[in-house]
Amino acid sequence: MIKTGFQGYNLIGNALVDMYAKQGDLSYAFKVFNTILDRDVISWTSAVTGCAHNGSHEEALKLFCKMRNSGVEPDQVITSSILSSCAELALLEFGQQVHANFMKSGLQSSLLVDNSLVTMYANCGCLEEADRVFKSMANRNVITWTALIVGYAQNGKGKESLGLYDQMILSGIKPDFITFIGLLFACSHAGLIDQGCRYFESMINVHGIRPGPDHYACMVDLLGRAGKLLESEKLLDEMAVEPGATVWKVFLAACRKHGNIDLAKKAASVLFKLTPQDAVPYVMLSNMYSKAGKWEDAAAVRKLMKSKCISKEPGYSWLEMNGKVHRFMSEDRSHPKSDQIYLRTSEVMGLIKNAGYVPDVNFALHDINLEGKEQGLAYHSEKLAVAFGLLYVPQGAPIRIYKNLRVCGDCHTAMKFISKMFCRHIILRDSNCFHHFRDGTCSCRDYY
Ligand code: ZN
Ligand code: ZN
Repeated sequence: MIKTGFQGYNLIGNALVDMYAKQGDLSYAFKVFNTILDRDVISWTSAVTGCAHNGSHEEALKLFCKMRNSGVEPDQVITSSILSSCAELALLEFGQQVHANFMKSGLQSSLLVDNSLVTMYANCGCLEEADRVFKSMANRNVITWTALIVGYAQNGKGKESLGLYDQMILSGIKPDFITFIGLLFACSHAGLIDQGCRYFESMINVHGIRPGPDHYACMVDLLGRAGKLLESEKLLDEMAVEPGATVWKVFLAACRKHGNIDLAKKAASVLFKLTPQDAVPYVMLSNMYSKAGKWEDAAAVRKLMKSKCISKEPGYSWLEMNGKVHRFMSEDRSHPKSDQIYLRTSEVMGLIKNAGYVPDVNFALHDINLEGKEQGLAYHSEKLAVAFGLLYVPQGAPIRIYKNLRVCGDCHTAMKFISKMFCRHIILRDSNCFHHFRDGTCSCRDYY
């Protein structure tokens, strides 16, 4: 194509961009993209979906903005693709803007766009909006229903999630692999053991879907949370697929919840082999020993972790405000308003302490004196983010925080106090689910 000069034609160039991106070679895709002289919406779509396909969602958003600035109007395909990137990054404001512009454009909506809208709103924890789009749709397929089923499940509305599933079956649509992940997740978080077991069985026997690691993880979680650790272990042993690290981690978390050190040791030793550089099993096991007063064992695990040069994955939280993403890391002072934020954080911590909050130093993980431990805890990334939210998000609007790891128990407790004391709806999405803090309680029913 280079020799013949055909590469310069849109039709060829667009197809080449698409081909390279789908092969995972973004740098070649962009080399070709940059040679296309008269880029149309399809050229941009190839590049944007290519980025999204390779997990470069931030890049996809930047390209989309570039396209708009160059005067090319989006169509349904690129709108759907960019909404999926917003969903991945949980960028609600950006997604809302794309939605509004699409409505203004006068383009006919399509199943593709509507499905992406439902997914984007559900993924950002905006169930009312997701539901509104869902209800406005003339046609729905399994993706539409599943997006909402998963959305409800992740936002602590297990019963609604299961109710939707019944409606979906009544409307004649068959569930798929992902629908069942949503259902089992809903059951495990709502503590519906019997129902969860029934869905698991019907998935295999009625719908002919082979369970994958994610389904097993939900089942191990479902049984484990309820304290049925032996049944949970039995399921792990009988798994039809190789249990990956995710399933073992879920099992380890259940052991921690119920303080079963023997089983936790077993799970941790498997994880040490499966994911040797992951700090989580070390930290969990060492925390369990400390909690049980077995300081020497705790220190031994810590020492083992150190000898292997494993460090904790840094936790960070972010908020989106007026089109800007504000990122916070524990004890990091790079934010331009850092002084005010730290001051507000310590004020807030002082206020909730007066209201009965007791810092849980188990989560501090520093070998320093009690006061020092508490200091570290006070500046966890989600606490800095919430202080920022209290300062700058107008009263009445929810404070939306995203975190790359799971929320720690101490921050979870603090958020409950803060929601009550400042009359705020705080929505925290961690790596597992959404936590809606309102009036001193959390939607996850304290299953974190
Ligand atoms: Zn924390
Ligand atoms: Zn919660």
